[in-house]
Amino acid sequence: MLCQAASEMAIKVIVLDPQQNCPASSLAYQHMLGSFDDSTTVQEFAKRCGVLTFEIEHVDAATLEKLEKQGVECQPKASTVRIIQDKYQQKVHFSQHDIPLPEFSRIDDLEGAKKAGERFGYPLMIKSRRLAYDGRGNAVAKSEEELPSAVDALGGFDRGLYAEKWAPFVKELAVIVARGRDNTISCYPVVETIHRDNICHIVKAPANVKWKVRECATEVAFNAVNSLEGAGVFAVELFLTEDGQILLNEVAPRPHNSGHHTIESCYTSQYEQHLRAVVGLPLGDPSMKTPAAIMYNILGEEEGELGFQLAHQLMKRALTIPGASVHWYDKPEMRKQRKMGHITIVGPSLSNLESNLATITEEKASEDK
Ligand code: ATP
Ligand code: MG
Ligand code: MG
Repeated sequence: MLCQAASEMAIKVIVLDPQQNCPASSLAYQHMLGSFDDSTTVQEFAKRCGVLTFEIEHVDAATLEKLEKQGVECQPKASTVRIIQDKYQQKVHFSQHDIPLPEFSRIDDLEGAKKAGERFGYPLMIKSRRLAYDGRGNAVAKSEEELPSAVDALGGFDRGLYAEKWAPFVKELAVIVARGRDNTISCYPVVETIHRDNICHIVKAPANVKWKVRECATEVAFNAVNSLEGAGVFAVELFLTEDGQILLNEVAPRPHNSGHHTIESCYTSQYEQHLRAVVGLPLGDPSMKTPAAIMYNILGEEEGELGFQLAHQLMKRALTIPGASVHWYDKPEMRKQRKMGHITIVGPSLSNLESNLATITEEKASEDK
């Protein structure tokens, strides 16, 4: 999607990806085959680029730091990647900047985990510090007895774990924040994200919450991004608690699933905005040009051919809905729960879009039967 936005602006994107037929390879100006976690490869890749940016935070931060010292333009900055890619460090950083978040503590052994349980209560969220996505680095212990199995499920203490107090949220919200090379900061409207099995499933824009909540969410997101270095778009994931408090969950220093709807619903998509930011152009207008939008992730339901068939049926139904746009990523392999594409519906109100979405998914449910 970044390559699609780039082509409209005649910005040439060179992609570094280890997979021969990765989705971006057919859209990119060039595709260099290799790992974004391998220092030599990244250094070789950097020689071809005017600006280095990334769409995944699990890149080699040390190499980016080295390249920056040599004068290579990295946006956002390597320091940001380093902070974000270790979720525990991320929490330390944001708490030092007075950003509200669930209480947390490092845990190195079972004794430490028990102490965290006594301090924060149960259920207790245990998280991997690194390489987490789609909730795959999270495990919940409902009681002290469940601590060992939760730790084992994450691969043990050697993986690097920390504990987080359970956030009793009523809604999850997200804000995409853009920062230009001139340090101007611009926030997209607050959205609601709905997760299924820890995976982002539906995004509603704008979030149906009180004005005051939107204001507070935007302020927390602004402050969080303001504490990081570099240009680009950042996604700030938030919890809304029953008493109207906003707590930060995590920040992704890149275009994000909660911003996919912006392609159809905003004057400047998150992808165009990211490109504008990293190459040093003025930021665009992040406001919505439609009253409402819903984004629905197409997740793999079955492995292999059957999974493809089910997804195609869903997309065919979506194509009959006015205001619906289908995005199919053309990932070579279908896996259960994998994000294979998404559908965005724009229209006059969230309730109207919810019924349109129900048409797409309910029809599917009846066909499944
Ligand atoms: P992503 O794909 O967003 O990068 P991730 O693997 O980094 O996901 P998190 O964002 O930490 O995982 O958590 C995934 C989901 O788990 C959250 O969106 C939320 O629904 C739930 N969650 C995370 N932390 C807590 C918490 N402290 N209390 C309650 N629920 C939580
Ligand atoms: Mg994450
Ligand atoms: Mg998350």
